[in-house]
Amino acid sequence: MRSLPSNYELVAPGSLASVLALLAREPGWTPVAGGTEVMVQYGAGKLAAQRLVSIWGIPELRRIETIADELHIGAGCTYTDLRRDSVITSEFPLLSTAASWTGSIANQNRGTLGGNIVNASPAADSLPALLAYEAELILTSARGERRVPYGDFHTGYKQTLLSPDELIRTIVLKRRFAQYVGYARKVGTRSAQAISKLCMAGLAKTSGKSIDDVRISIASMAPIPLRLRATEQVLLEREWSIETLRAARRALESEVSPIDDIRSTRAYRVAVAGNLLEEFLYTLFPRDGAIDQRLNQVLERWNALPFEDAATEILSCCGSYAWAKKVTAARPFSDTEALLQSASAVWRSMQPEEWMEAFRSHPRIGERHAEVETTAVSQAWSAGEQTAVHTADAEIRRAIAEGNRRYEERFARIFLVCASGKQPQEILKILERRLTNDDDTELHESAAEQEQILRLRLRRWLGDQEGM
Ligand SMILES: Cc1cc2nc3c(=O)[nH]c(=O)nc-3n(C[C@H](O)[C@H](O)[C@H](O)COP(=O)(O)OP(=O)(O)OC[C@H]3O[C@@H](n4cnc5c(N)ncnc54)[C@H](O)[C@@H]3O)c2cc1C
Repeated sequence: MRSLPSNYELVAPGSLASVLALLAREPGWTPVAGGTEVMVQYGAGKLAAQRLVSIWGIPELRRIETIADELHIGAGCTYTDLRRDSVITSEFPLLSTAASWTGSIANQNRGTLGGNIVNASPAADSLPALLAYEAELILTSARGERRVPYGDFHTGYKQTLLSPDELIRTIVLKRRFAQYVGYARKVGTRSAQAISKLCMAGLAKTSGKSIDDVRISIASMAPIPLRLRATEQVLLEREWSIETLRAARRALESEVSPIDDIRSTRAYRVAVAGNLLEEFLYTLFPRDGAIDQRLNQVLERWNALPFEDAATEILSCCGSYAWAKKVTAARPFSDTEALLQSASAVWRSMQPEEWMEAFRSHPRIGERHAEVETTAVSQAWSAGEQTAVHTADAEIRRAIAEGNRRYEERFARIFLVCASGKQPQEILKILERRLTNDDDTELHESAAEQEQILRLRLRRWLGDQEGM
């Protein structure tokens, strides 16, 4: 139901001092800046706050100025203001890039950085950038001002440190990132006007093969935007190598806790977050020519094979002939990454009926033979992927077999999980959790697992032992 205007009161005192005095005097007023969040709730008949005080256009909240070695951004600055500011675009590109992702041009003209912060959506686009730059916030009220690290501001899902009588006045960024390499990526259903499935901001300073400083933050992977401290720690402790990359990816997977929702599945988010991390790290340390050269020899031969031979050769990586044919049709590939990207894109573009062929090509977890006939290579890879389960004790194998039976009764297909590197207990826990999924969530989670499997197998096929 839409809202009734007569139920609401809106005042616009016009100065910061009078807004703060009102908030101090009479509890229950809610600030409105650009209104792009508040008006959506109003339009949907879901705006609980009935007394609104406008802070739009208040001069103290709309300035961007340098004070000593800091950039002070007024909380009322819009995304357009951020995109047009020369210091932000040159020294804080993660923030100007995030501003350019946000909504439409109309939305960017109206939505404010302060509103994005206080709205506290786990999927907000500008927040990972603020975490990476270790922003601070100046909060103001009639009682005075306090300065808090932005990293402490969100205390839980949609919970913040802000008191009812306080406003965010300023977002403070230290001007010290000239030597850093930045990385910003949003993954959404479309490139514009889409809420993120996830987005990542990365910032790092390197010397030789070492990372001297690194900040990686991510949205949509936890109830609040997250700084990936454990992943950063792995990168700080080791010299760069492909093994460091793998360890960082494992650390990332253990410190995020995304949920399944209407925009994406947990498994998809975890897999893509790992891919983004990899992309960021490869911008810092370009790929090793020796490895690429070795891989290219396999690719070169495969690129030149007759179509049917080439499709048959990669069939073992996925088990779906439709997938193998579509990937083969996209040849030639210049390097591993190009092949992996195309392999994933083809997989995601396929219909659920086509996914089923791939699902059927795997043996049940704990068994050795698939329901349908598969290649010897595929059988050998399945056995290798499941080594830990085959050697688990009898009790856990029985529990997995029982889980498989319940899963097949519930979803009418076999339970699929990327078993490589997973312990039997962990697999059993995943199986039990996924038994509670609804049909659509489970289908997409299985598809994301299959995508992980096919990427691992493609790397193995290409001889990338370090990538295993
Ligand atoms: C069509 C559309 C597309 C969108 N696309 C994106 C997107 O791609 N990415 C994204 O991250 N967001 C997106 N948004 C969300 C929204 O535009 C942003 O969160 C925006 O930054 C909110 O700012 P605002 O000034 O409009 O907030 P408002 O609606 O005015 O306020 C939001 C909340 O913040 C509080 N508030 C605002 N300013 C202050 C302050 N200075 N101090 C204390 N409290 C304050 C308000 O009381 C309210 O609770 C979209 C919204 C719409 C409608």
